[in-house]
Amino acid sequence: MGHFLSLFFFAFLQSFFLVNGNNDNLTHLPLVPINRDLYHSSVDLMEMINGLVHRHPDKLTMETIKSINKGYQAEISVVTYCRGRKDNDDSSKFRILLSFGQHGRELISTELAFRILSILSEEQFLPNVDSASLNSTLDKLVIKVVPMENLNGRKIVEAGDLCERRNGRGVDLNRNWSVDWGKKEKDYDPYEENPGTGPFSEPETQIMRKLAISFDPHVWVNVHSGMEALFMPYDHRNTTPDGVSSHQMKLLLEEVNRLHCQNRCMTGSGGGSVGYLAHGTATDYMYDIIRVPMAFTFEIYGDGAASSKDCFKMFNPTDLTTFNRVLNDWSAAFFTIFKLGPQQLGEVHSKVYVPNRDTEESIDEYLNGYLMQRSSRHGKKMEVLDVGLQEMRTYFRLFLLSSVLLLFMFCSRIAKSKSSRSVLPAMPL
Ligand SMILES: [Zn+2]
Repeated sequence: MGHFLSLFFFAFLQSFFLVNGNNDNLTHLPLVPINRDLYHSSVDLMEMINGLVHRHPDKLTMETIKSINKGYQAEISVVTYCRGRKDNDDSSKFRILLSFGQHGRELISTELAFRILSILSEEQFLPNVDSASLNSTLDKLVIKVVPMENLNGRKIVEAGDLCERRNGRGVDLNRNWSVDWGKKEKDYDPYEENPGTGPFSEPETQIMRKLAISFDPHVWVNVHSGMEALFMPYDHRNTTPDGVSSHQMKLLLEEVNRLHCQNRCMTGSGGGSVGYLAHGTATDYMYDIIRVPMAFTFEIYGDGAASSKDCFKMFNPTDLTTFNRVLNDWSAAFFTIFKLGPQQLGEVHSKVYVPNRDTEESIDEYLNGYLMQRSSRHGKKMEVLDVGLQEMRTYFRLFLLSSVLLLFMFCSRIAKSKSSRSVLPAMPL
């Protein structure tokens, strides 16, 4: 046991030095405030979206869903786009669900939602797209847009707390879903990533889950900022899933990257690309549980040179030119998704099977099975040793845990020495 203890002690010492090696030395710079000439307030945005819906009842409808948990109330507005709503048979059309503003401080995300809705209403236009081909694309779709998933968190940001990404009671809505919920990485930061008291503890997440289950989309996109990236599952592992739909997602992202991001967007699995694993995310849930064949997280803008305290600047364009460039590029990217998504998945809208994580064995189940198998193979002679099995299990688990921990320390040391890039100052995903 002494051996294990010393291993752990060594591991903790290492993590202590690693964590404390990253200091932000830019804190003395003045922080950039919200540029009110470019960005609308949440109240104004919802009013403008309301206006669009009222002017285009043939295309748009809106509903507001409310939910409450232990005195904490949240509401989410959902705009549905469907041309020629008389045949509102959603099941025959290709369904797309888009969510914006899941993190409060990423104001640009909701501005993009408004731009996309304006183009869908034909009050704004995409350059170099003829309306005939656009309309034939849109005829086949039902698009549901959640312009502001985290209204309560957004209000905290508008009141001056520019770094707030969580909801109105401090929970990160992109850690509150059930796939791999609550797992904490070595560099876990409770301020950034609080997953809540349990999966779906937050009313916002409950609303979004209900919406996803009832709408059953073919495409899901969770729109964030903090970097430029086109992510697919998984966020909680550093790999992409196997199978046909994974391949289709990759192809689509490569095309969007080439057409709209000049190939500078990071693509691949969120967990494999962003520099950290994220547990309990919406996109992993959409893919694994709702079985959305194309589930993405887009990161539409990031200022990597900004100080980690300078959140408005880090997550949002601060000048008009960049602001317009981001909205033009990414609204065009979404219309490419609208066009190519259905083509990629084929005319048959059947959903591709993906393995359910719930059926996977945990390490404990695996160990139990392994040790039970071993004991039964040796028959009755082993019975006297059964008392020792529990202890063996504990030692074996400790041994595995410390080996993994040491290996991880070793790898992260090597990674650090190879590149000067420190851990991300703030999390986009
Ligand atoms: Zn985010």
